Order: sequence, then structure tokens, then C-alpha cells
Amino acid sequence: MPKLSRRQFMKYTAASVAASYLAEKRVHAESGEENKVFPLMTAGATTSYGICHFCSVGCGIEVKVKGDEIVSTEGLKEHPINEGALCPKGRSLKEMHNSDMRLTHPLVRKPGSDKWEPISWEEAIDKIAHKVKDVREKTFTDAVEIDGKKVTVNRLEGIFSLGSAEIDNEEAYLYTKFNRALGIHNYTHQAEI
Ligand code: SF4
Repeated sequence: MPKLSRRQFMKYTAASVAASYLAEKRVHAESGEENKVFPLMTAGATTSYGICHFCSVGCGIEVKVKGDEIVSTEGLKEHPINEGALCPKGRSLKEMHNSDMRLTHPLVRKPGSDKWEPISWEEAIDKIAHKVKDVREKTFTDAVEIDGKKVTVNRLEGIFSLGSAEIDNEEAYLYTKFNRALGIHNYTHQAEI
């Protein structure tokens, strides 16, 4: 592959930018749209403010929405954590939301099956609840003996629980309470990982 000097690289880059610009001007001139002002893609969109859900940094985000579609995402300038910046994951929130590959319902792979099938949220919650109850009944320990004394522990060894970057402070608090109420002591949160 021929080597380019820095000067040659700059020269070729400038030439290709100029060629693209002239080609676009020509297309617009031929279609009679040379002086047409195109509307901003955010024109008429409603604005919502939130927190990016991808990781525990919790960057503030401004989201512009038209109908069901996100048309723009920007870092929130006033937010103390990110001060207007977003990393590539935060920037891609728009694409993830609008993607037709986005998973929006629970899937189950039945015993012996080689494929995933959609089920309703009610069915998924029901299945999980039954499984948790079943494992809890089999692996819950109420007390152990230490130095000949019975010590209450109320612990559930059979379940490990992993929290999510999708939940906020209050939800994380409830998540902890929920685990402790069941006796689960093996649990952690995405922020810790
Ligand atoms: S923008 Fe990036 S760093 Fe900020 S919360 Fe989202 S994923 Fe995390």
C-alpha cells in the first residue's frame, strides 16, 4: 500500500470534501432545491429529560420525541455528572429505541426446545414467582448450630440476585429490601460490578 505523507493526506481529504460539496450543490441545482431551507429533524418534537439507563454513571439526557420515535438525544448541559457529554452508548439510545430488533416482550425456551418463544408479562412473572418459591422452599436455612448453640440466620443459599443499571436509587433500595425479605444474601448491583 503506498504511503501518504501528512501533506498529501490533507490535500486528498480537502479535495474529496470539495468534490462532495460540489456534487451536492449540483444535485440541488438540478432539482431546483438550491435555495430550499430544510426543516430541522427536531422541529415540532417534544422534549423529555431523563437519565441514561446504560450504566451506573447516570448521565443526564435530553430526548426529543416525535410520536413513538426518538429523533434526537443530547447530553444535558445542566447535569452535574456529564455536563452535556454522552459516551457512544448514551448517544446510541435513539438507535436502540427505534430499532425493530429491540426486544419488547419476555421470551421463554421450554425444556427440550431449541427456540425462544414469546410469552406475556403475566405469564413470565408467574413462572419466575413459582421458580423463586420452589428454590426458596428447597434451599432456605432458618438456623445453624455454632459452638453448640442454635443461631438464627434466615438465609436463602439457592438464589443469586443481580441488580440492574436500569434502576434508580429508590428502586435499588427496594431491590435490596426485596432480597433481604426473601433471605437472599448473595446479591449485588450493576454499579458494584
Ligand atoms: S452516557 Fe455513557 S457513561 Fe453516561 S450513563 Fe450512559 S452509558 Fe453510562
